Amino acid sequence: MPTEPETDYDPSLGNKFIFVTGGVMSGLGKGITAASTGRLLANAGFDVTAVKIDPYLNVDAGTMNPYQHGEVYVLKDGGEVDLDLGNYERFLDIDMTFDHNVTTGKTYQHVIEKERAGDYLGKTVQIIPHVTDDIKRRIREAAEGHDVCIVEVGGTVGDIEGMPFLEALRQFAHEEDEEDFLLTHVTLVPYSKNGEQKTKPTQHSVKELRSIGLQPDILVGRCEDELDPSTKEKIALFCDVPTDAVFSNPDVEDIYHVPLMVEEEGLDEYVMERFGLADEAVPAEERDTQWRDLVTQETGGEVDIALVGKYDLEDAYLSVNEALKHAGLERGVDVNVLWVDSEKMADDDEARLREADGVVVPGGFGSRGTAGKIDAIRYAREHDVPFLGLCLGFQLAVVEYARNVLGLEGAHSAEIDAETPHPVIDLLPEQYDLEDLGGTMRLGAHETEIAPGTLAADVYGAEACTERHRHRYEVNPEYFEDFADTDLVFSGESGNRMEILELDDHPYFLGTQFHPEFRSRPTRASPPFVGLLDAVVESTDERLEVEA
Ligand code: GLN
Repeated sequence: MPTEPETDYDPSLGNKFIFVTGGVMSGLGKGITAASTGRLLANAGFDVTAVKIDPYLNVDAGTMNPYQHGEVYVLKDGGEVDLDLGNYERFLDIDMTFDHNVTTGKTYQHVIEKERAGDYLGKTVQIIPHVTDDIKRRIREAAEGHDVCIVEVGGTVGDIEGMPFLEALRQFAHEEDEEDFLLTHVTLVPYSKNGEQKTKPTQHSVKELRSIGLQPDILVGRCEDELDPSTKEKIALFCDVPTDAVFSNPDVEDIYHVPLMVEEEGLDEYVMERFGLADEAVPAEERDTQWRDLVTQETGGEVDIALVGKYDLEDAYLSVNEALKHAGLERGVDVNVLWVDSEKMADDDEARLREADGVVVPGGFGSRGTAGKIDAIRYAREHDVPFLGLCLGFQLAVVEYARNVLGLEGAHSAEIDAETPHPVIDLLPEQYDLEDLGGTMRLGAHETEIAPGTLAADVYGAEACTERHRHRYEVNPEYFEDFADTDLVFSGESGNRMEILELDDHPYFLGTQFHPEFRSRPTRASPPFVGLLDAVVESTDERLEVEA
């Protein structure tokens, strides 16, 4: 039965929208290309935000396995989202909220809840228009108050999952003024065996787009090298876009160089021109160059930091890796991350740990690999190696100290050993009676009070910090007494919760119950990471002096 289209979404507020779709295959880095374009628009003085669409049925990324999908990124409002949102926060230096991540699950859940509440007044509830209207409403709400909103559609054009989103996009294109809407399609341009750049995959994916009523305005070809002029011409001809709307996106060594490359290609200027924003933009010679200066600086020295985790997928620790890079950018030092697999400490991984100048034990869940992490923490503590423990890394530092210094035999986290005689880490009280696992951890930004005169106070240069959390367990208050008057000081607290620990007699041993990596930006490195790097540089300088 046909239904009347629903029109309860906000009308356009005059913002500009750049939609980004992907063709041929996933993993082309369309998010980085989009975020880089956004960075350049921000440098030109525009307020840019982003929306990431994930066409999966999960309501959010919180219940997804990071060793299969990459890390779960946490926003300040506690939203557990796809790691791509982290890239937008880092590239644009903005704080996003949960409603900047639109998933199939979230949209359908909302539409079905409305149907159950009787809000559709007897209509047949359908993908078109009810789901597509809900998608458009979410995008427009997220864009409100910003000049430009980049909307990245995850997956590849042609996927069944993506269809309702692409249909919403088609409607969107019609509803917006031509000057307010651009569709950028990122595709793959492979080489043939005889070294020729092949455009057929691009042609096919644009054909796929057109079959659902979408015509791209801009085409970006991911290729090992820059696209040849003849390749661009061919793409333009077959895909019906002007030649100057075809851009290359060649491989670069470091993703932070993508904005420089996008600028060189002139993609940002093209976008401003099409949006009619060129006159409002800050003149090219007056634009913010902080990003360029940071990523092209001459670095002095190189340090090795061991990142001790479970390695099915390095993306599981993406933000930690980035935060280490940011500290390096801030101090002008190259940071090498040595991936140490905590399950393979008996093999070469222990040797790699011993080579490192500093040790990071990141967050995690479950028992796999914890023994190796505890060994790594003990090693760092006993050998005066600068150490940073994040969330699970903080908790295991408590366990290690309880066992090996306080002599609490068998001490553990109740998450990992339910039968431990000393549950020094235990469930947060509010976690006991939970039934659902989705979105129920202690999540998002909470303030921590920092004790004056401590390492933490020095690192943050403040009496408080607000960082993002994602945990169910914490230091068990029943053991606070056991740690009183020891070398292990809890230097940050939030109510009765221990948030930061440090060791008195150590060059740098810091643990945080929160995840400072989620607030780290290339242009604004995270204090605990910068502190770690400073301690590493100091200790390597001392070692070099001794050796000389
Ligand atoms: N698994 C631990 C907890 O739930 C640590 C969580 C984490 O590292 N993010 O408390």
